[in-house]
Amino acid sequence: MIESLVRKTVLDFKAYSSARDEFTGVDYVFLDANENPNDEELNRLNRYPDPYQRTLKKRLSEVKEVPSENIFLGNGSDEVLDLIYRVFCEAFKDEVIICPPTYGMYSVLARLNEAALIEIPLKPDFQLDINEILSRKEAKILFLCSPINPIGSSLGQKDLERVIKEFRGIVVLDEAYIDFANHESWSKRIHEFPNLIITQTFSKAWGLAGIRLGLAICSEEIIGYLNRIKPPYNINTTTQQMALDALNHNYRTSTWVREIISERERLKGVLENFSIVDYIFPSDSNFLLVRFKDSKKVYDRMLGKGIVLRDRNKELYCESSLRLTIGTEKENDRLLLELERLDNNK
Ligand SMILES: *Cc1c(COP(=O)(O)O)cnc(C)c1O
Repeated sequence: MIESLVRKTVLDFKAYSSARDEFTGVDYVFLDANENPNDEELNRLNRYPDPYQRTLKKRLSEVKEVPSENIFLGNGSDEVLDLIYRVFCEAFKDEVIICPPTYGMYSVLARLNEAALIEIPLKPDFQLDINEILSRKEAKILFLCSPINPIGSSLGQKDLERVIKEFRGIVVLDEAYIDFANHESWSKRIHEFPNLIITQTFSKAWGLAGIRLGLAICSEEIIGYLNRIKPPYNINTTTQQMALDALNHNYRTSTWVREIISERERLKGVLENFSIVDYIFPSDSNFLLVRFKDSKKVYDRMLGKGIVLRDRNKELYCESSLRLTIGTEKENDRLLLELERLDNNK
């Protein structure tokens, strides 16, 4: 029963009714929204965007092979995550679970939304502590990230299935890196699991972090609640157009993904031979988490050479580890050159 998990305020909430909710035809004369009628560039930017992004969702539904009705779009997945909190989490009352090491936004948003945060760390093999999770019967939301940021590997599919089935609240499965993984998205199985929300993003494989577009794929019932509370025009016209264009050229994305994975494997092969490297975590993503003998020395030296890496040293299991995003071949060559110099004590 999803309804029993939803905040009372949201159940009773009457959404803002926007001027563009009902009339989307091209033949109308629009004198209802106080827009400027002049459209000199003929790009329709003088008009408010479609609040439900119908054209974009239709194309997205073909590419992702899930029905349009099961797609919700946000201003980055960060907005989607925030809206999920606001649908389900009563401030100062409800609990959410995260499984460190994990993506930082889940706990930032817990603080912002005044939710009680329960941390149930991954086990040392980077898999879920299922019994501990299922013992928290009151928790409203479980945030899972797979492939895992910042580790790079994926959660076990059998474990995931068991947790999604048996957890009594909402399970958010963040698949920001799914395009780089060698297993399927869970998005095609949402019909089996009414409590499952998959989130994905245009910021990684699609190469569009700048347009801010994230998605939730879940039951129509949950989408109804998200639509009720979202800002009416949360996805701007330019973003909708750029995303549509990317979806219509999705061979580009497939090519990038293949290149990035091949560069990841090349980088891994070279790094393995450096004595400054202690361990390279397995990766299903567009980054490698690398434990160095002295990560601070590596971090500072690379920064001095103009190469910015992500220090994950403070995260659980990530002592002395840096996260290296896979760049272009040229960028990766530059990184390898500087690491090799450091490795040779030069
Ligand atoms: C990068 C990333 C996102 C993307 O967030 P956007 O707001 O869509 O840019 C989401 N989740 C994880 C785990 C990420 O690493």
